[in-house]
Amino acid sequence: MNATVHIIGAGLAGLSAAVRLSRAGGRVVVVHEATAFAGGRCRSYHDAALGMTIDNGNHLLLSGNRAALDYLRTIGAERRLVGPPAAEFSFVDLASGERWTLRFNDGPIPFWIFDPGRRVPGTRALDYAPMAQLLWPPAGKAVGEVIACEGTVYRRLVEPLLLAALNIDPPQGSARLAAAVIRETLAVGGRACRPLIAREGLGSTLIEPALALLAQRGAVIRMEHQLRSMRYGRDRVETLYFGNDNIALNTDDAVVLAVPPYAAAPLVGDLATPTEFRAIVNAHFRIDPPPVMPSMLGVLNATVEWIFAFPGRISVTISAGDRLVDTPREELAKTIWCEVAHVTGLPAALPPWQIVRERRATFAATPAQDARRPGAATQWRNLVLAGDWTDTSLPATIEGAIRSGNRAAEVIAKLS
Ligand SMILES: Cc1cc2nc3c(=O)[nH]c(=O)nc-3n(C[C@H](O)[C@H](O)[C@H](O)COP(=O)(O)OP(=O)(O)OC[C@H]3O[C@@H](n4cnc5c(N)ncnc54)[C@H](O)[C@@H]3O)c2cc1C
Repeated sequence: MNATVHIIGAGLAGLSAAVRLSRAGGRVVVVHEATAFAGGRCRSYHDAALGMTIDNGNHLLLSGNRAALDYLRTIGAERRLVGPPAAEFSFVDLASGERWTLRFNDGPIPFWIFDPGRRVPGTRALDYAPMAQLLWPPAGKAVGEVIACEGTVYRRLVEPLLLAALNIDPPQGSARLAAAVIRETLAVGGRACRPLIAREGLGSTLIEPALALLAQRGAVIRMEHQLRSMRYGRDRVETLYFGNDNIALNTDDAVVLAVPPYAAAPLVGDLATPTEFRAIVNAHFRIDPPPVMPSMLGVLNATVEWIFAFPGRISVTISAGDRLVDTPREELAKTIWCEVAHVTGLPAALPPWQIVRERRATFAATPAQDARRPGAATQWRNLVLAGDWTDTSLPATIEGAIRSGNRAAEVIAKLS
């Protein structure tokens, strides 16, 4: 009988592990998901208030996210991710009314910082030099201990970039994680910085094609099948308990635990995991974006951070949004729409809206929390961890989640 690998959690970490393991053949792949939907923190759903399908949150990928792009190619959905042909980011400063577009050149030598038409307005090429200190920072330091978090380059480039990538107020953020992002994107040049969006939705881009491929490869997906506990033997997991049914594992069977840290900790004894989280707030408005609006607009000196234009909808992202999680929903919708209407020129009347607050959107990317991330292997030979919170050297992102799933699959492949 073929050995079975049980993948717990159908988020991107679990799905990418399943896609890799099902490709190899030889093992039966079974995915167990607690909820009625796959995708976890990266999902689409039909929203009754808006009468349309929306994403739980706007998700941005960059062209340097090589594992994510490889995953999309494998599931046949690479073309569903769209973006401009070049690395361009438009901004508006709500305080000064200034608007500009950052235009990175393709290669690693940053010619763009020498061109006033491409760099941040109000800066000189020399002002970008301190950023180099973030490339290889000393271990265990926060961003605020490595660079001075002040000045125009910081406020108009470094802060919005790191806030979006780390989902934390940048001075508190882990310099190691900031460095990893910068080394894989800005330092490579514009070709790694093109912004990419799932224009038709996260579900139809990243999730449903993966489920279809898995079904085609004979993998089994069990929804509403929550792992409750595991029985451990001397060196391996022996039984999975799902409430009404239990699965006894054969000697060659294996488990990929791809659940969030707060779900993994009670399932695995003595597991150190991140314990602090940061929220992301998203607001969605059913309204046609103005035809001239960029698909993505950064907003400075405002509550709103990024405005995304989708067909028939405008959506807003606010990272590290913990200060807003208890604000009454309607008040928040009005505040956000007021700023959106101001910068887009759309009417001030509030269109149909929805607020989605993900309180534990990502682990808090501080040096202390980063140090609590475990690797993939565990003391049990047939139990492997995956998830954006495991030690991928990246912040909690799609790219990190997919790399963790790929790595878990590699560890499992070596077991046989
Ligand atoms: C609002 C928001 C915006 C974001 N924006 C971006 C962005 O712009 N760019 C980017 O790269 N990343 C972004 N992220 C982060 C990205 O969504 C995550 O890093 C990624 O989706 C995490 O995937 P995962 O598989 O590690 O975890 P999850 O998606 O949390 O998947 C875990 C799965 O395990 C299931 N589960 C839990 N317990 C059990 C159990 N006991 N048994 C069975 N199943 C269980 C859960 O239901 C879930 O489906 C954003 C996240 C949020 C919330």
